[in-house]
Amino acid sequence: MEVINCRKCGRLFNYIAGAQVCPMCKEATEKKFQEVKAYIQAHNHCSMAEVCEECDVEPGQIQTWIRKERLQFADDSPIKVSCENCGAMIGSGRFCEKCKNEMSRNFGSVLSKPSDQLKKKPQPKPTDNKNKMRFL
Ligand SMILES: [Zn+2]
Ligand SMILES: [Zn+2]
Repeated sequence: MEVINCRKCGRLFNYIAGAQVCPMCKEATEKKFQEVKAYIQAHNHCSMAEVCEECDVEPGQIQTWIRKERLQFADDSPIKVSCENCGAMIGSGRFCEKCKNEMSRNFGSVLSKPSDQLKKKPQPKPTDNKNKMRFL
């Protein structure tokens, strides 16, 4: 554990993991998220600028929530983020359906490859074992 400055308010806090933001700012962000979510539910076709103005929140923050799939929009909503792979506009997440499909296909073919590399893995040398023994 280390003590760092919060990236939002500059307050010192005990940093454990995740975003470098103090618990107070985290709570404030969470409250803001609920506010934004409620606003979007009530105004399904609002624009990004409208949400930012009405809820007093940065566009970057809204995009982060969209990427994390915490916010979902109707297909015909003007609020979109771009696919990180091909740049197509999508309503939530990081990649469009097409890229998601391609990625899962590629991932599958990697898994089904014969595991040559495992067989070629060098065996631990006898000297290593000797060294280990010494520490035991
Ligand atoms: Zn803070
Ligand atoms: Zn894509």
